[in-house]
Amino acid sequence: MFDQVSIIGFGLIGSSLAQGIARAGLARKIICVDSSKKVCKKVLQLGLADEATPNFVKGVRDSDLVVLAVPVGACGDVASKISASLKDGAIVTDVGSVKQSVIDAVLPYLPDTVHFVPGHPIAGTEYSGPEAGFAELFVNRWVILTPPSDTDVRAVEKIVKLWEGCGSFPEIMDPYHHDLILGVTSHLPHLIAYTIVGTADDLEADLKNEVIKFSAGGFRDFTRIAASNPVMWRDVFLNNKDAVLEILQRFDEDLTALQRAIRKGDGKFLEAFFTRTRHIRHDIIEQGQAAYVYPDTQRKSGVPAVLEDEEDDSERA
Ligand code: NAP
Repeated sequence: MFDQVSIIGFGLIGSSLAQGIARAGLARKIICVDSSKKVCKKVLQLGLADEATPNFVKGVRDSDLVVLAVPVGACGDVASKISASLKDGAIVTDVGSVKQSVIDAVLPYLPDTVHFVPGHPIAGTEYSGPEAGFAELFVNRWVILTPPSDTDVRAVEKIVKLWEGCGSFPEIMDPYHHDLILGVTSHLPHLIAYTIVGTADDLEADLKNEVIKFSAGGFRDFTRIAASNPVMWRDVFLNNKDAVLEILQRFDEDLTALQRAIRKGDGKFLEAFFTRTRHIRHDIIEQGQAAYVYPDTQRKSGVPAVLEDEEDDSERA
């Protein structure tokens, strides 16, 4: 499908995409472009790319596809560095967790001869770096594409095929809508997890030790989310400010309603609320979006074969 693909930022997502592309035979050559020489060396050692370079200009020259797999706050800067070296007709895409701000930051730097098809795979783990990547990460996962309305349809079609080749389900969406939906399904849960684990961390030493010792499923699951990459998540919140603050306002209102029900002993309200939320979990399981199955390599390195969120284990911790 592509002669040469350059992936800028060879972390969890960049490395996983490279492996997905290689596994499906979607490119003749994959180039790792990463500012860290150490990462470039590691990528070559692990055989994750055909070439690796910390030189952004050299790294994208002659590529028909360039993937920005860096934190969303760095996408504009990277686009400015590579814009003059992009080949005519090349497609640039990204994997950022926020879409409108990435479009605003990247598009002004891209020449008219280059096509930009922004994207976001709804797949990830709390691990970072090239070793954390695995080809199966995107299998049976949605990938949201948010191309501006005047984007060349053939370029969009190629990115759709790329993700389908990696086993994903691509879906086209308006970038603002993406940011609102992901604000609910991903950004708010991360913010809540960071808050809960931060609160536990602020407890006096004795209490904190016991929280860790007796950590039940609920808290343990939050610690997994709160172990996610701090730079990536800093950028997500700074770049999806409006949607996150809007959803946070609604969350705050619902929390107040639950607080009131607890204070008043309104069991009927609590039970009805929890019954409603339980159905959402069942819907997610039914749609096959509840669990990750890790490949053998990760299993050997101590990562559980199936991530703990596969089932509700809060009672059995
Ligand atoms: P990661 O494992 O930490 O990798 C980040 C990569 O970006 C590293 O290669 C890093 O280079 C590079 N980088 C960081 N700051 C940079 C800068 N200022 N300029 C140039 N390169 C820079 O992170 P990731 O999880 O793969 O996330 C990458 C992107 O995927 C983010 O936009 C994120 O929003 C998106 N995403 C993440 C997930 C997830 O669950 N993790 C899911 C979907 C989408 P070094 O090697 O030098 O550190």
